[in-house]
Amino acid sequence: MSKDEIAEIVKVAAAEVLARKDEILDEEYDARYHDVNLLMKNYRKLKEAGIGTYILFQETYHKESYEHLHPTGPKSNYCYHTEAMDRAMEGGIDDVGCGVLFGLNLYDYDFVGLLMHAEHLEAVYGVGPHTISVPRLRRADDIDPDQFDNGISDELFAKIVAVLRIAVPYTGLIISTRESKECREKVLELGVSQISGGSRTSVGGYAEEEEEDSSQFEVSDTRTLDQVVSWLLDMGHIPSFCTACYREGRTGDRFMSLCKSGQIQNCCHPNALMTLKEYLMDYASPETKAIGDKLIEKEVLNVPNEKARAVVLKNLRLIEQDNRRDFRF
Ligand code: SF4
Repeated sequence: MSKDEIAEIVKVAAAEVLARKDEILDEEYDARYHDVNLLMKNYRKLKEAGIGTYILFQETYHKESYEHLHPTGPKSNYCYHTEAMDRAMEGGIDDVGCGVLFGLNLYDYDFVGLLMHAEHLEAVYGVGPHTISVPRLRRADDIDPDQFDNGISDELFAKIVAVLRIAVPYTGLIISTRESKECREKVLELGVSQISGGSRTSVGGYAEEEEEDSSQFEVSDTRTLDQVVSWLLDMGHIPSFCTACYREGRTGDRFMSLCKSGQIQNCCHPNALMTLKEYLMDYASPETKAIGDKLIEKEVLNVPNEKARAVVLKNLRLIEQDNRRDFRF
């Protein structure tokens, strides 16, 4: 996606937030009716601007707790917030990501709420969530975890990840750097498929060195991206930087049918190898590059289709020798 396209998406989203802010301040305004139309229109604009996955966390599905947390402001309307995915789907965005913040409320309520949300999207639109994020309450600028007594243990957290994996096998499970290295290691084995590395949680944190007390959330895993990639390689995982499906228009029910039949693996595996190779060429330390190249050499032999394997081998050579980029299935 080009910088202009990204700028367009940010512009549409920012205009929506500003529009809603003014409306909510007007007590005479029928927020629900107008907001639905307005937002539908803007979801369409986001889709036209080329948005990939639209991710919105519910925080908690428990209405009273939600309203207690958001007494005023653009997020204060529980129903409006809970129905955002429906408006996004109806506005043409067929790739959405859900998540709750475990610890705000009783975990079992939110866990069931999350599963029911996924079930609802699948039943109504034929497409469940592309991703589910599983953050836990951590210390932040405006959150003191000691004020909440619904925190969940590492063991319970691992169980939640395992059951999610079984309940929605087609969905990417995301865990953030707010979890420790040990915890991330454990849940990776249980079904987490997407992790971040070298995250910054303060505004402008990627552009400048982050000050210790400027972040929105405490980050437990503070390793650099290179360290995270090297760690994944050591454990035998293939770190993939692939975003091919969005860019090939493989979204919504088209994506889901490939996912549920397992055929998506014919794209994911070769794409993982080629995008990892690009990362190794452009950003990795010499040590990480050495481990990664070794893994690619071994893994490329596991591409089952002979023709596809030949294409991957050719592309890997072009990435290394001709500095070519952006190959994908
Ligand atoms: S091909 Fe790439 S974008 Fe599509 S599901 Fe696989 S890893 Fe994700």
